[in-house]
Amino acid sequence: MKKLLTLLLCLPGLTQAQDDFDAVQITVEEVRNGIYMLQGSGGNIGLSVGDDGVFIIDDQFAPLTEKIRSAIARYSRENVQFVFNTHFHYDHTDGNENFGTGGAIIVAQENARLRMSQDNFLQVVNVQQEAYDPVGLPKITFTDSMTLHYNGHTLNARHFGSGHTDGDTIVKFEEANVIHTGDVFVRYGLPFIDVPNGGNLNGMIRVMRELIAWSDDDTLIIPGHGQVSRRQDMVDYVQMLETIRDRVYEGISAGMSLEAITATVPTRDYPASGFLNNASFTKIAYDSFFQ
Ligand SMILES: [Zn+2]
Repeated sequence: MKKLLTLLLCLPGLTQAQDDFDAVQITVEEVRNGIYMLQGSGGNIGLSVGDDGVFIIDDQFAPLTEKIRSAIARYSRENVQFVFNTHFHYDHTDGNENFGTGGAIIVAQENARLRMSQDNFLQVVNVQQEAYDPVGLPKITFTDSMTLHYNGHTLNARHFGSGHTDGDTIVKFEEANVIHTGDVFVRYGLPFIDVPNGGNLNGMIRVMRELIAWSDDDTLIIPGHGQVSRRQDMVDYVQMLETIRDRVYEGISAGMSLEAITATVPTRDYPASGFLNNASFTKIAYDSFFQ
């Protein structure tokens, strides 16, 4: 919890004042075939319950762990056996130490583990995320892909390269045709891209194109934040990102400064999100070309 004391900004679903956690309710929605989405505060949690046990994707904030366990207990008496982290950000991983203490095996892409094992500053939200104790760190890591056979599902975890961070994982339940995207795809408007921690707008667009190719019209998408979505929602989202990226690149090609490009309002046509506006998102897009 020490890492949350430095929260200074309020952004939807990402930061939360300590006192507010008492008021958070965990809601559960069945997505398909024994796969659920849990929402409370922080990133969406994917849940699979079945004959093998309980598996979750991301675990939100530490003060919510008991509420999350209570919500899961409605579907299974088993403890959580595996936690997949879609990336290192604390609004997706702050519960790791609790679930690790409870015996769960945490799994993540190797860059995500590396960042969780050290202090990181999240510039856009002005938060210092401190290193986790070993019990909260992933015990299993992978580089590009791994497969878990669990509860009758074939779970393919893929890392498509830098996008939201440099350690993003997308998890697909193959037979059920359900994908948890982590924060590569979100529903709150202009997305947070953590450029100082390896994220990149051009990378995010490339990953989204891979994701769209990996899905079809029947795929149900659990985004990092927001409601269950469809492939077409991802198409609309990547078109927004490409439009803004192209406008910024046009300015860079013409030799314009960041300030001058910002003044052309590259994000026009798209609403600001709770914590990203034209200036801050244009900077993300601009910086993505100079990494
Ligand atoms: Zn994130």
